Amino acid sequence: MTMLFGEAVASLPVAIPDRLDAFLSVTEFDRPTLVIDTEIVADRYIALKRGLGTADIHYAVKANPTREVIARLINLGSHFDAASRGEIELCLSLGARPETISFGNTVKRGSDIAFAHRAGITLFAADAEAELEKIAVNAPGAQVYIRLIVETSQADWPLTRKFGCDRDMALELLDRARALGLDPVGFSFHVGSQTRKSAMWADTLDEMARIWHAARDAGHALSLLNIGGGFPAFYGEAVEAPTDYAAGVIRQVHARFGDVARIMAEPGRGLVAEAGVIVCEVMLVSSKSARDAHRWVYLDIGRFSGLAETEGEAIRYQFETPHDGSPAGPCVLAGPSCDSADVLYEKRPVSLPLTLAVGDRVLIRNTGAYTSSYSSVGFNGFPPLDVVAI
Ligand SMILES: *Cc1c(COP(=O)(O)O)cnc(C)c1O
Repeated sequence: MTMLFGEAVASLPVAIPDRLDAFLSVTEFDRPTLVIDTEIVADRYIALKRGLGTADIHYAVKANPTREVIARLINLGSHFDAASRGEIELCLSLGARPETISFGNTVKRGSDIAFAHRAGITLFAADAEAELEKIAVNAPGAQVYIRLIVETSQADWPLTRKFGCDRDMALELLDRARALGLDPVGFSFHVGSQTRKSAMWADTLDEMARIWHAARDAGHALSLLNIGGGFPAFYGEAVEAPTDYAAGVIRQVHARFGDVARIMAEPGRGLVAEAGVIVCEVMLVSSKSARDAHRWVYLDIGRFSGLAETEGEAIRYQFETPHDGSPAGPCVLAGPSCDSADVLYEKRPVSLPLTLAVGDRVLIRNTGAYTSSYSSVGFNGFPPLDVVAI
């Protein structure tokens, strides 16, 4: 990347979104690059925290593990949800206190649990008996929460089936954890990523609250409710403002669960997506035949180099070109690799200016989440997504 006047621009006293655009307008990039503005992350953290009240924010590190993002969040008092030893080491190396880190993956290596335990981490997730046994051996006496399966997600990017267990098993696992010498403190769930409206949480919260009260009735003194992530970003369809959304969720939680000693939320996308812009370039514009109804536009970034969430076309990124405002037409959008799965949008083509040409710069807005962290290390010889934090 070539940085022109980068330092000077970063210190200009401009409004937050303008800061990012000012940086983009004076910076040249020689390969696809995610520019992430830590001030927007901070702004978003404060907005979500205002809505969440006393609930702790545990940032889901996998959404964007850029060091400057983690450091800024530590500075603001954020806690962290880590899924692996690598993510734990990242947070600790930047100064996060171990008691602010939860090890939230339900599938952990025994030696990584032991590492976390030695490092001072005391809170672990599980959704299976064998996982509790691993935790009991490698982190004796630790606090555990049981992840519940979510059957009723209305999310654009649901996480159902792979994680969690059902009500009866969850109740058994609380007993089993106790018998293994662990401290079963509560439950977690994930409503599904990109749940666009807070009202869409209602059915899931109903389901989760029934299980919570059943566990209480069975004599379990639960103190922790982890409501996971799901906080949305703008991808072209209206979403509620972050504070309103978070407050709307918490209101529904209190109505169903009553007083809970400790509530955790684990936003990933909702904290970082709108803080990032990918800068990329048009590699080729073509047609497959003279009668083709749409053009094919090939970018220098694709499904394997950062845009994995175009899978199924559920997440629809916003594209900006130098010709916006001039006549446009439908395009199939594809990545640069020699893999036929590397097509971004085809079922619902993207409207792009007719004058779009090879070499044009394309900005992909709101791409701060699940892009750099999903980018393969050099599939087909294409470099992983470069990241610049401002
Ligand atoms: C990925 C993940 C999150 C973050 O989800 P978002 O939808 O990005 O907010 C939160 N909790 C857990 C356990 C996760 O795996």
